[in-house]
Amino acid sequence: MNYKILVIEDELHIQELIKYNLEKNSYKVAVVDNGLDGINEAIANSPDLILLDLMLPGLDGLEVCKRLKSDKRTKKIPVLILTAKSEEFDKVLGLELGADDYITKPFSVKELVARIRARLRRVDEHEDERKAQEESTNIIRVGNIEIDKEKYEAKKFGEKLVLTLKEFELLKILAENQGKVLTRDFLLDKVWGYDYIGETRTVDVHIRHLRQKIENDENANQFIETIRGVGYRINENNEM
Ligand code: CA
Repeated sequence: MNYKILVIEDELHIQELIKYNLEKNSYKVAVVDNGLDGINEAIANSPDLILLDLMLPGLDGLEVCKRLKSDKRTKKIPVLILTAKSEEFDKVLGLELGADDYITKPFSVKELVARIRARLRRVDEHEDERKAQEESTNIIRVGNIEIDKEKYEAKKFGEKLVLTLKEFELLKILAENQGKVLTRDFLLDKVWGYDYIGETRTVDVHIRHLRQKIENDENANQFIETIRGVGYRINENNEM
């Protein structure tokens, strides 16, 4: 994936230096020379990272940073502030305004690229964490079976099971309540709905089909247990 970097910098030779070197490192680069264009560009094209010069004509870098960080469309984009040694730059204020890092001019190209890389890696790590978290809330595991609530998919030993919608829903609700006995009426209500006019035998038929698909001879009628006169229970300890 090619990351998009937005450079907000008014000095031509620095623009060129940055653009040339970032493109050489396979980043996509957009350059603007003032803060307002920078903000508009950030909103329009959501870059992965913004390099922001501090001393700009019109809006100065800190003001630009403040606006970027207070707009929900741009506030998550990391901002690296470029500052000259001679400039008075209050680092604390910059960080308070939401800048993620700063680089002092003159900088080495190597350092610039390293800082950008480090920052983007951190963004990626957050993204991975978020995805893992999201996935873990969608997935229920019971024994060797994995149920993805979002994708309506169940797998056994990683192999996709071919289930009908009702079978999937039965399995899901049993798995969500693993260890608990669920009555036929409860299952009928949950899976078929209150207005379903049917018999609890419907549940038995579907359980039988489900068993054929997920159990094997060794644990037949044990993984999904029949509790006589009551209902069914999924018992992960009985999984083979
Ligand atoms: Ca400048």
